[in-house]
Amino acid sequence: MQENRTILPPKTIGIIGGGQLGRMMAIAARYMGYKIVVLDPTPNCPTAQVADEQIIAAYDDMQAIKKLTEMSDVITYEFENVDLKAAKYIEEQGKLPQGAFALEITQNREKEKQLMKEAGLPVPAFSIVTNGEECKRALENTTFPCVIKTCRGGYDGKGQIKLSAKSDGTEAMEFAEKNEHCIIEQWVPFDKEISVVFSRTQDGGLEFFPIAENTHKDHILYETVVPASINNQVEMKVVQAATILAERMQIVGTFAIEMFVKGDEIFLNEMAPRPHNSGHYTIEACNISQFGQHIRAICGLPLTPIKFLQPATMVNILGEDMEHVLNMMPALGNASIHLYGKDGIKPKRKMGHITFIAETIEEVNKLVSTYEGEE
Ligand code: AMP
Repeated sequence: MQENRTILPPKTIGIIGGGQLGRMMAIAARYMGYKIVVLDPTPNCPTAQVADEQIIAAYDDMQAIKKLTEMSDVITYEFENVDLKAAKYIEEQGKLPQGAFALEITQNREKEKQLMKEAGLPVPAFSIVTNGEECKRALENTTFPCVIKTCRGGYDGKGQIKLSAKSDGTEAMEFAEKNEHCIIEQWVPFDKEISVVFSRTQDGGLEFFPIAENTHKDHILYETVVPASINNQVEMKVVQAATILAERMQIVGTFAIEMFVKGDEIFLNEMAPRPHNSGHYTIEACNISQFGQHIRAICGLPLTPIKFLQPATMVNILGEDMEHVLNMMPALGNASIHLYGKDGIKPKRKMGHITFIAETIEEVNKLVSTYEGEE
């Protein structure tokens, strides 16, 4: 672990990755008076629009990584698929307080599930396969439905197939043969999907945001409702599991864990070593956002004690929703609309999000149906 260095404004924060998460981190940092330099191959990417400088280069371009390290007092990232060699280099320079370890674990589903299991936490039963033959053997000992996922690189439901019955075995074998390193997981017939977003400082301070309840459409997060409708027992299990992982992985910054809830049981699904789509509601519904807390943690500042201000629903805006959103905007006084400044509207591409907050969840629901009802 690196020593706890305090980085004060107007020092420079480097961000690897220039999408919406980097943009919202940069905005939070700029409110505090920090300077921002972003590394991203796309000129004028969403983060560059709010940064002081952009290095236009591939994420794994070591020359660019060295330049970013020279220009920055501290570095963070907006996605987990950061090149490990680059992360280790920055860590050696004493400028990556989050460390390379959390990246190494979360960019590989095998390591991620193994670590959770070794920590004694509940995960769906799983096996690892590296070719079609191993997949065939593993499926003989698996009950259906189950799901096969690539161990690396999958997101928003890409890189996985649900297997409903033995007859899907051939498709699974082809998938395993093509993708080489895969995980087969028992399908959890969950009641709901939730996520917990928290932040941890370099000396172990921990703050939890309220647990969020998530609905996906076509594997992409559609809506987050907060607070999640879960009982105290489930909430305790979630916080306990997150605390164990935060300590074990020596997390620094904002971190998210997605879970399934079935009755009073939880099953851990995925971890993200960064702010998360299901935590965007914190910008309006809490006294500090997941991005503000992240910046504080990586800069060696104490976390702000979190206050939940009002119930909230966050709805993602995908490419196909853009026209509707713009048409509705003049009528939506009670909604906080965030557009990410992305070039090119494509179906399924995350273009922005809307957060609705109100005194009660019933009032929030009314606002959401006004927005959705016009579709
Ligand atoms: P992932 O990429 O692992 O987050 O999976 C995307 C989505 O697929 C999840 O949010 C769930 O809706 C669903 N899913 C993935 N794995 C499982 C599982 N083992 N059981 C039930 N649903 C799953």
